[in-house]
Amino acid sequence: MIYEPKCKIDIETASESKIGQVDFEHIEFGKIFTDHLFECDYKDGAWQTPKIRPYGPFSLDPGARVFHYGQAVFEGMKAYKDEQGGIWLFRPDENFRRINKSAKRLAIPDFPEDYFFEGMKTLLQLDSDWIKPGLDNSLYVRPYVIATEAAIAAAPSREYKFVIMCSPAKAYYSGEVRVVFEESFSRAADGGVGFAKAAGNYAAQFYPTELAGKKGFQQIIWTDANTHEYLEEAGTMNIFFRVGDKLITSPTNDRILDGVTRKSVIQLAEDMGIACEVRRIKVQEIKDAAKNGELKEIFGAGTAAVISPISGFGHGGDTFELKKLENSYASKFKSRLVGIQHNEGDDPHNWRYAVN
Ligand SMILES: *Cc1c(COP(=O)(O)O)cnc(C)c1O
Repeated sequence: MIYEPKCKIDIETASESKIGQVDFEHIEFGKIFTDHLFECDYKDGAWQTPKIRPYGPFSLDPGARVFHYGQAVFEGMKAYKDEQGGIWLFRPDENFRRINKSAKRLAIPDFPEDYFFEGMKTLLQLDSDWIKPGLDNSLYVRPYVIATEAAIAAAPSREYKFVIMCSPAKAYYSGEVRVVFEESFSRAADGGVGFAKAAGNYAAQFYPTELAGKKGFQQIIWTDANTHEYLEEAGTMNIFFRVGDKLITSPTNDRILDGVTRKSVIQLAEDMGIACEVRRIKVQEIKDAAKNGELKEIFGAGTAAVISPISGFGHGGDTFELKKLENSYASKFKSRLVGIQHNEGDDPHNWRYAVN
């Protein structure tokens, strides 16, 4: 049974599924894609009738503006299946709001809400066999928009393509993650695009991250571009510090992405009676806390890894390793979040969104 979208979507289903060729026990993140793709083009001042079709390439004119000026934004979310076959999204309204906020900053037109939700729901039901039950499994959903007009003057495109593609994912245990607090490069500046999921933000992080990798750090914690004295976020995750029994995370602003996982952790901390301060965090404060043993945990929060514990950090030639903790806050937040996402446990804030 296929979901009946509440707006018009042209649907062409795949004649054959690729799912038989997939080894779901050994999936590399983001390398395998499901049978269908959602696409919607913008031209003549309007989003055209969306379509869902068999997954496969599309062709673009080499003059498409996205290739020249990077006019592109994206989102990252996940779909989950419970033991009864129910399909769920987690706070998708936040992702919908955010992609349009990102789009606005890059002069990309708003995408309609019904196309977003009806397109995603229909796509997820067509590819529902790709969503495996079990807390370790999910389907990563990647909506994005690119500027497609063939015109290489530096100006906003008059044509766009909105796409939703899906990729099965296992919970990933990234191993030990050690981070460096960045001292010279910057990810985002005041008045810039740091708050947006703009494609170029990620390209600009690869080189500094490679340099950090050569020094034994898997990721960078970005500091404020003006002084490099305040900790902001990781490249694809917001960041939390536990000092004593208290959590600290940086406030969001135009340099920091307003993560759904971050705001969920802040709410869960309140529910669990864990104090959480949202305020600027000095590099020196965290180094001092590490030296005097008060720094208990650092973890990242983002859709892909949910909660990602960080085992140590480097700054200014010093390195610090954190002791492994039983019953860490990181593990508590992770199991609570993953439970809610998979329709286990109560959902007091109505974060779950039923797809079928
Ligand atoms: C996507 C992203 C996050 C995490 O956001 P979620 O909504 O929790 O997935 C954090 N920082 C950056 C820079 C991101 O791109």
